[in-house]
Amino acid sequence: MSTIRFKATEEVMKRTPVHVDLPSVKTSRYFGEDVFDTQKMQEYLSREAYENVLQAIDQGVKIDRKYANQVASGMKAWAVDRGATHYTHWFHPLTGTTAEKHDAFFEPAENGGIIENFQGEMLVQQESDASSFPSGGLRNTFEARGYTAWDPSSPAFVYGRTLCIPTIFVSYNGEALDYKTPLIKSLNYIDKAATDVCQYFDKSVNKVNITLGWEQEYFLIDESYYNTRPDLYLTGRTLIGHASAKDQQLSDHYFGALTDRVKSFMRDFEIEAYKLGVPMKTRHNEVAPNQFECAPRFEEANLAVDHNQMLMTLMQKVAKKHHFRVLLHEKPFKGINGSGKHNNWSLLTNTGVNLLSPGKTPKSNLQFLTFLVNIIRAVYEHADLLRASIAFTGNEHRLGANEAPPSIISVFIGAQLTKMLNELEQRVDDTTKMTPEEKSELKLDIGKIPEILLDNTDRNRTSPFAFTGNRFEFRAVGSSANVASPMIVLNTAVANQLNSFKKEVDELIQSENIKKDEAILRVIKQYIIESRDIRFEGDGYSQEWIEEAKRRGLTNIGSIPGSLEALLSSKTTDLMRTNNILNERELKARQEISLETYTKRTQIEARILGDLAMNHILPTALKYQNQLLDNVRGLKEIYPEEQYKVMAHHQLDTIEKIGRHVNTIRENVLEMINERKKANKLGNMGDKAYAYEKQVSSYFEPIRYHTDKLEMIVDDELWPFPKYREMLFTR
Ligand code: ADP
Ligand code: MG
Repeated sequence: MSTIRFKATEEVMKRTPVHVDLPSVKTSRYFGEDVFDTQKMQEYLSREAYENVLQAIDQGVKIDRKYANQVASGMKAWAVDRGATHYTHWFHPLTGTTAEKHDAFFEPAENGGIIENFQGEMLVQQESDASSFPSGGLRNTFEARGYTAWDPSSPAFVYGRTLCIPTIFVSYNGEALDYKTPLIKSLNYIDKAATDVCQYFDKSVNKVNITLGWEQEYFLIDESYYNTRPDLYLTGRTLIGHASAKDQQLSDHYFGALTDRVKSFMRDFEIEAYKLGVPMKTRHNEVAPNQFECAPRFEEANLAVDHNQMLMTLMQKVAKKHHFRVLLHEKPFKGINGSGKHNNWSLLTNTGVNLLSPGKTPKSNLQFLTFLVNIIRAVYEHADLLRASIAFTGNEHRLGANEAPPSIISVFIGAQLTKMLNELEQRVDDTTKMTPEEKSELKLDIGKIPEILLDNTDRNRTSPFAFTGNRFEFRAVGSSANVASPMIVLNTAVANQLNSFKKEVDELIQSENIKKDEAILRVIKQYIIESRDIRFEGDGYSQEWIEEAKRRGLTNIGSIPGSLEALLSSKTTDLMRTNNILNERELKARQEISLETYTKRTQIEARILGDLAMNHILPTALKYQNQLLDNVRGLKEIYPEEQYKVMAHHQLDTIEKIGRHVNTIRENVLEMINERKKANKLGNMGDKAYAYEKQVSSYFEPIRYHTDKLEMIVDDELWPFPKYREMLFTR
């Protein structure tokens, strides 16, 4: 083992679980203690101010300036009581992380000394020189101002000693520079559209919330190994490294017992999460060694999005205390599973009904079917945009790699619901009116859904968009992604679909003089037929599906720049602009930013890979080759020709092998650098991204192949980087 690896391993061997001070009270006693929730608002705000904020939360209206000062001072008083000294607007720029700029509460007082100050305007809006955030051309540096504005639907919280105020982030002329602005718009839009459709079934519904429960996968790796792998700490994934003889093939990690060290880390970040009101619920070992998953109970989507961002930050912070690093990259290690996020998504009415949960009566089940079929229809219509919403450098290594759904968007609903939809399609006649008998028979069948679904346990893990009993689960989201990105698309597409549905049903009722239920059934039938191609119940990982999908005309875009083209298709711009979610400039900006991020990440990876190969691997290989050459020379000196030939056989062969690998690596690196230079000269962002994808990154695999071969040849004592078997197994 090389000195550097030996030292790292020595450190790791000495590790013991870090002691965590477990709270002596029940979780419910401290859950949300660092959140300025409605209970604390009531305590710290005047009645009028409190009611104003509640209204802002429920109806999305602006906080009245009149009350802003009161809210600010109440919030400040609470935060200072909790030990806060600073405040920040906390937002989700398009970098994918969260941003914050801290300001101290105190200000010089007129009569000397200082006072703690925090005015309404500091709460409601802030101007930040945000010229370094990606804007995709929406903001020139000379008008670099960006504005953050409080989003009262997500409560403020104290983290460390800072009061964090969740905000949206927009440019000078109001264009969105973040994920939250379009997310909130899409949530309002689907609320309205879904409420309108619910009115067919239940007049008491006046609000529909989107619920989101995400599942977060991640890897843990000891910090000593992390710090000795430049590829890991600069790109988040290993660019070289031969597979470990044993990794996940025995499936002995999945749901296995957690080690004390890992358990102590999980406990620690869960406590922190609880204080911030994140309702963490499950944790377990995942398939790959050192891979884990955690998930909270689902929440209103806007809050769930904030909580996922908070949790990712928190995990990374807490991990350091435990001498771990959290890897959120989608594919940190070659040859074993990567990490994703599952977005469990549903709709919940103010009357407490989950619209994707079959009910007890034919009426509620017709409502269920209405939503189910509209969602399928929306996914069918905007599959390419959904695909674009999860396009991200790391995710590309995972999709379609037999561990995550392929790049083909399809919907799984299970055998029973498929049967139900097929029957509806057969039995609903859209030319003649149904007889009362036909109607009541059909309704009776629709009413039977709950029985069927209760024991509907078939779970298709290979589908990107699967119905799982009372929700849809979008499984192709990347582990490091901001979960808002696919939610914006899904909400908007479904809302738009629901609006069309309502229009069609109303028109049918008018023109055909039929009852509401029959009109609904007819439109549903039509949608079932139109969107049949998006439904797939089989093995999404199979080659047959790829071929079948092609026959059906479904797209299968395995390229990042390619998939991002959907952001500017006329279908997308119509959907997003007409519904006031994102205009064309904003969409264009998002595309630019994604292309640029992809290009830069690939560029960084190419540079690191070149560096590792040329400055670490090749010198190591040559050193070993020299040792062999010395050995051969010695043998030749001492032994007679015949005997020498026999004795030096292995060494000579190895010397040549090393030489071949070394030369191939060198050639590939030089060519890759050359391609990089060419790509960098391209002016158009799209061309550049394509060049990085098609030309530059095509050298990654050959370079890796030969370095991994060398890893198996070169003396273990000389190998400079921690190996897979070390990183993945020592905890
Ligand atoms: P699995 O791994 O089997 O999919 P998990 O328990 O890990 O199941 O995750 C299920 C997730 O789905 C949880 O976050 C849970 O809160 C969420 N979920 C359950 N019901 C709903 C719902 N109605 N809307 C949104 N998310 C939901
Ligand atoms: Mg799941």
